[in-house]
Amino acid sequence: MEVALPLPIYRTFTYTTSAPAPAPGTRVLVPFRRDERIGWVVGAGEEGDIRGLKPVIDVLDDGPTVPSHILGLCRWMAEYYVAPLGIAMRAALPAVLSDVSRDYLALGGSLPADARPRERRLFDALESGRGPQRVATLRRTLGMGSIWPEIRSLRDRGVLTHTTVPPSEPAVKTRRVVRIARVLEDLQEREALFGRARRQREAFELLEASGGDVELAHLTGEGGFSRAVVSGLEAKGLATVVDEEVMRDPFADIPAAAPPDLTPTPAQRAALAAVVAALDEDHPAPFLLHGVTGSGKTLVYIELLRAALARGRTALVLVPEIALTPQTVSRFRAHFGDRIAVLHSGLSSGERYDAWRQLRSGVRQVAVGARSALFAPLDGLGVVVVDEEHDGSYKQSEAPRYHARDLAVMRAHAQGAVCVLGSATPSLESWHNASIGKFRLLRLPDRVGGARLPDVRVIDLRTTRGGEADRPARGGSVLSESLVSAVDARLRRREQVILLLNRRGYSAFVQCRECGEVERCENCSVSLTYHRVTQRLVCHHCRYEEEAPTRCGRCGSRDLSFRGLGTEQVERITTETFPGARIARMDVDTTSGKWAHQRILSRVERGEVDILLGTQMIAKGLDFPRVTLVGVVNADVGIHLPDFRASERTFQLLSQVAGRAGRGVLGGDVLIQTALPEHYAVRAAVSHDFEGFAERELDERKKPRYPPHVRLLNVVVSSPDQRLAAETAEAAIAFARRRAVRGAKAGGEMVESVGPAPAPIERLHGRWRWHFFMRARSPAALGVVARGLAEDYSPPAGDVRLALDRDPVALL
Ligand code: ADP
Ligand code: ZN
Ligand code: ZN
Repeated sequence: MEVALPLPIYRTFTYTTSAPAPAPGTRVLVPFRRDERIGWVVGAGEEGDIRGLKPVIDVLDDGPTVPSHILGLCRWMAEYYVAPLGIAMRAALPAVLSDVSRDYLALGGSLPADARPRERRLFDALESGRGPQRVATLRRTLGMGSIWPEIRSLRDRGVLTHTTVPPSEPAVKTRRVVRIARVLEDLQEREALFGRARRQREAFELLEASGGDVELAHLTGEGGFSRAVVSGLEAKGLATVVDEEVMRDPFADIPAAAPPDLTPTPAQRAALAAVVAALDEDHPAPFLLHGVTGSGKTLVYIELLRAALARGRTALVLVPEIALTPQTVSRFRAHFGDRIAVLHSGLSSGERYDAWRQLRSGVRQVAVGARSALFAPLDGLGVVVVDEEHDGSYKQSEAPRYHARDLAVMRAHAQGAVCVLGSATPSLESWHNASIGKFRLLRLPDRVGGARLPDVRVIDLRTTRGGEADRPARGGSVLSESLVSAVDARLRRREQVILLLNRRGYSAFVQCRECGEVERCENCSVSLTYHRVTQRLVCHHCRYEEEAPTRCGRCGSRDLSFRGLGTEQVERITTETFPGARIARMDVDTTSGKWAHQRILSRVERGEVDILLGTQMIAKGLDFPRVTLVGVVNADVGIHLPDFRASERTFQLLSQVAGRAGRGVLGGDVLIQTALPEHYAVRAAVSHDFEGFAERELDERKKPRYPPHVRLLNVVVSSPDQRLAAETAEAAIAFARRRAVRGAKAGGEMVESVGPAPAPIERLHGRWRWHFFMRARSPAALGVVARGLAEDYSPPAGDVRLALDRDPVALL
């Protein structure tokens, strides 16, 4: 029979069995080289004539663990994204299922008299130990090669039992947390208390910024504070150190509030009628639900799910990042309670496996989760929802490099389910699909409850950044006068403000004024970001760190300038500008704990925060009616990236963050600071004009041709050796071109090649990177070239890798 193994080899393997071959989807243990591995039966294979085939060691399941539709999806994924089937399956299934070390043996009887010596040794080893023992450990201690023949023979005679056990979890996990014990509202008191204790002050500020508490290990580890600093805060009564139970699943603990009883608006009703009717179609075409921010898309999803469940079918809901969308998840929980399994990164592998089994057996019928929830084992699938379908996090960045939105469409089609992709700012791919009739377009053009979209105004940074003389008194040169007075007004009225800057850290780079040298990462060709709290320079790609310098590494000058604004600096300026305001910062540095996001967001929800500032994290899906002002500190971060999606991302980010304002009866305003007020992405965001943006951007992508007009395959060649990377890229593109010509001669489309060239990030994690890309209108023609590269092209000897990325979301 044919077995897929999770190895980077583009083929499956054939093994023999004595009994009738197990059904596809069953796990088997097979010999591979000098090892034993878990694999998946994927077909009958042709055992007939091949000699020297090895038999499987054991069949691990009584029936197929993997439903046939998931196996089919994996096959499609492996084929399209050019990944080995075993790797695709491993990505799709709970880790427990591909872990050999989870197999345990226990004694169940006495040793028969006719036992062979090897069986006796195994029996003795089991008897001398206590309780069930791991097969992997026994195998190592016995040192007599594979013990599976003995296991099988003893098991068949009732001498021992064999079970697969998910990893055990400690009953309660705790962690040490430093928590603010006394809030310091008074600036003078703050001065008096900290005096020259600079580090204590910084640690306290980090606690404040992180929503009131931080894990001790984080503070003393990545935070760079000594334990003495924390003790100092304790001695002053400002902080306490407590053992806190680690919340495994915050969604399980939050009592599901009774769902609000909402009457759908006419627009929601129309959309609902269309999607619910599709439940009764045979293979319904997917829907694109284009609803402006605050138009009530979630209610459409929920009512559609309800209709599907009422018909005895199941449902799958994908959201970009669970941690960032607690509100959306709670709404689903409020409606469907125990019928839902929420799959998120906070689950242990045992819990993940439990959830998987509950979905597999039908105990739960709705799966909600991020990207990988796509593979939830749901039979009778009726609905697949992809919320915020434009979000880049749906693309997996390592093999298999699948796009969950695109696979969701495939999966829904295969299982005859209704697929709804929703967004206020659809991806151009989906928009294009809607315009050629592949997707059915549904619109929610207005906000619910008569709320209006916020007024958006642009503040031209070129005119506000005057000389020193006309610098505004407050806000430094960072917050313009208009923004400062708009915030003042909100603070007076006890309303809330969101400030966005999509760059973390204090200063984006450190440059010597004498010689112009910029501090760079040792492993990557990017500048290091200065983090003030920790006094360190950090690489945001590989996390390399070093102490912040006091003099230039090249010429020794002490004249260093710290440039490029980050969220830490905005926080400092905001604190100084609005001394009475309660400020929370949300970015990668303040959300180290798994549920830090949730704690910060619930403080905002309870009205304990006046100003929430952060990176793109705060632009997603938040629904706070008291937020009446959104300020974008600098809209231009990212707009110049050498990537064909840079404008699209800027437009999406600005529109999404603007969409957080004025969601309640209070209305709202948005102020965007930019040096590029004429840029079409900025202008379209100002006028809430998605369609205008899409039209312009589709035009921009015609010359040179980019998706959605064509499909791309990006090939990144990397090596620690710069020349090897370059030479391999040349050789690989030559190979790809020959394949392209061959394909065209056989009547296919001619696949174009572009490059090779050094990748925009030329060095990453110590590897030099070259890339080229191939483009074609036909996915099939592109697939032939991609598979040729994966299966038939052999790179030269040495440490050099080829990464194939189909439908890439970024070319960096
Ligand atoms: P979107 O995801 O489209 O931005 P949401 O689904 O978050 O919008 O809905 C925005 C707000 O409007 C939520 O607070 C929701 O409870 C509310 N809402 C949605 N539909 C209705 C309705 N028909 N009547 C009243 N309120 C509604
Ligand atoms: Zn780096
Ligand atoms: Zn210098």
